[in-house]
Amino acid sequence: MAGKLYVVATPIGNLEDLTFRALRILREVDLIAAEDTRRTSKLLAHYDVRKPLVSLHEHNEHRESPHLIEKLQSGLAVALVSDAGTPTIADPGYHLVAAARAAGLTVVPIPGASAVAAALSVSGQPADQFAFLGFPPSGGAARDRWFDRLANEPTTAVFYESPHRISRTLAEVAEYVVKRQIIVARELTKLNETLVIWDNKSPIRQQGEFVVVVGPADQADLVEPDAFPVTSFVGQITKLMGFDEEAAVKLAAAHFEIPAAKVHKFLKKARILAKRLSDNHGG
Ligand code: SAM
Repeated sequence: MAGKLYVVATPIGNLEDLTFRALRILREVDLIAAEDTRRTSKLLAHYDVRKPLVSLHEHNEHRESPHLIEKLQSGLAVALVSDAGTPTIADPGYHLVAAARAAGLTVVPIPGASAVAAALSVSGQPADQFAFLGFPPSGGAARDRWFDRLANEPTTAVFYESPHRISRTLAEVAEYVVKRQIIVARELTKLNETLVIWDNKSPIRQQGEFVVVVGPADQADLVEPDAFPVTSFVGQITKLMGFDEEAAVKLAAAHFEIPAAKVHKFLKKARILAKRLSDNHGG
């Protein structure tokens, strides 16, 4: 008889957050596939569990999954764990689970901690619907598209960010969203757990692990004004009143109640259009 693949959630900081069932499964399986075997060894040592470990991380998952599928097919029971929380949630494991399903094997969830659910549960924001946006891309067009998606997301949005990017990302979030609460959850379940409603000014300690929750948008705020009144507003106060463009953008953002980034986008598009028109006219 074929074995089963157990997808086991492990703690996101506090070792007590391992469920009784997760512990029993880790004790019963033949093999544990772990994102980082050294990290998982520490968890297993804490609970006095001794099991063979194989490494399964984002760089070897494609290569290793077929071997694990063979082991499952031969009747072994395998647990999949990641460094923290629920495997496959912004973590490796998806390819193995998909391959197991494709091979007709039984995949069993052993639910438990996940940073996205933990942050959402204490954020004070509605979570009857929410969008999980993973990690923001580090740069380029993908990052712009990610912010556009956040700005246009009507429900509560949740994302992960690394300590060295958190300040830069929060500053950008504040440019893209208006009138929405930004909650920064740091080091959940750990000694230095903090949850702050970010006021767009206070510096954030760039250490530890972060989840950011952005409250839902008022539907009315998602209705975009036409670009033309916004760009002509900026044009008038720069040309007629002598404001510099950055100040004019801020005033336009406040006046039309839209993010400053949106005003910048309208101006950019208007400039491209104007250039095209003058090129056509000249040529
Ligand atoms: N699979 C995990 C889960 O279910 O939460 C998430 C894995 S993802 C690679 C790791 C990211 O989750 C961290 O960079 C951080 O953004 C977030 N995270 C994990 N543990 C956290 C904690 N204790 N407090 C705050 N954020 C945490």
